[in-house]
Amino acid sequence: MRRIALLGSTGSIGVQALDVVRSTAGLEVVALSAHSRWEELLEQARVHKVSRVAISDPQAADAARAAWDGEVLCGPEALAHLITGAAPDLVCNAIVGSAGLAATVVTLSEGIDLALANKESLVVGGELVTELAAATGARLLPVDSEHSALHQLIASEKGQPPGTIERLTLTASGGPFRGRSREELRAVTVEQALDHPTWRMGGKISIDSATLMNKGLEVIEAHQLFGTAYSAIDVVVHPQSIVHAMISLTDGSSLAHLGHPDMRVPIAYALQWPERVDLDVRPLDLTAVGALTFEAVDENAFPCLGLALAAGKEGGTAPCVLNAANEVAVAAFLDRRCSFLEIAEVIEGTLGAVAIEQIYSFETLIESDRAARDEAASRVAALA
Ligand code: NAD
Ligand code: MG
Repeated sequence: MRRIALLGSTGSIGVQALDVVRSTAGLEVVALSAHSRWEELLEQARVHKVSRVAISDPQAADAARAAWDGEVLCGPEALAHLITGAAPDLVCNAIVGSAGLAATVVTLSEGIDLALANKESLVVGGELVTELAAATGARLLPVDSEHSALHQLIASEKGQPPGTIERLTLTASGGPFRGRSREELRAVTVEQALDHPTWRMGGKISIDSATLMNKGLEVIEAHQLFGTAYSAIDVVVHPQSIVHAMISLTDGSSLAHLGHPDMRVPIAYALQWPERVDLDVRPLDLTAVGALTFEAVDENAFPCLGLALAAGKEGGTAPCVLNAANEVAVAAFLDRRCSFLEIAEVIEGTLGAVAIEQIYSFETLIESDRAARDEAASRVAALA
């Protein structure tokens, strides 16, 4: 049995990860965590016979304690205690936002393998995270579909010889606003932005997909995971979301990873690695799919991708500042305190105002994250 701690279990990835645990063999959940939806969390704990959970919202933790005789951890060290106490074989980090970084750091420091959905950990933590994994020998298994595809294509253990991979390509669905001009994006609503054409996901990543910030975060994620130069990572819009990623080799061959969009596939790959398991998913019938189409990103309508690439290339705390400003701006958009186009304006303004520094330790990142959040929040407040 592979013993798994699942963090962010009430979210879109968390629920699908539990589905994979129930529908495939050899996996056992030993710890669960969520932010505030304690009733759902306790129901998951009951179904999976888990006796220890962490809840980050203090009121929700109190409510859970009153309703349950298992152990409820809360407070700044809760996830660290949850992970070290359960001593799992694998942690699946499906927390949203930079709030997931601490759990990534604890997991890798303990030398525990990590199935990582929380891309923000890699964007914010960068080399500190990958160096930590290298130092302790913990494996980083991406859950993000494009990176799971790349992991499979690159197959670092036995696949392509070093030096033969020339370029990586990440596909983007284009989100709900693909094809719209900047002018047409001025008045789009939260409901329209949340209505993703091919994936059903949590609120934050749905907005990131609509602005294309998600793809920007993913380029940084790919750079960190695979050590590929930014100049060798391409993004192409592919509305059908059938091709997830492609690698191009020096001999003119290109290898792609295909499948219907279903996050259970990359989740199962990460949880079961290196085994491949049977999964009840829709088989790919290319004649039924018909056409696969590809187009370039409209950088004028979707400036967030360019902002992310520039921050990635700048390095240091720039991706951390970008991510923090994005989290603040997306929350403001969901709260109807800023417009869709103002998300990019807040991020660009914050990147211009907060000093970018070299990263010496996680302390640098925590301070930089806080400074960027303050700056972005005051920029949002000044909009109204
Ligand atoms: P979600 O909003 O549906 O769920 C987030 C989970 O994190 C919830 O369980 C919530 O309780 C928990 N959480 C939120 N804030 C927290 C905090 N401060 N401390 C601790 N826990 C907290 O999000 P999601 O769509 O499942 O995405 C999770 C992560 O996976 C994100 O980083 C996202 O970018 C990535 N991802 C998601 C998808 C997808 O299809 N949903 C695909 C690829 C990558
Ligand atoms: Mg993705």
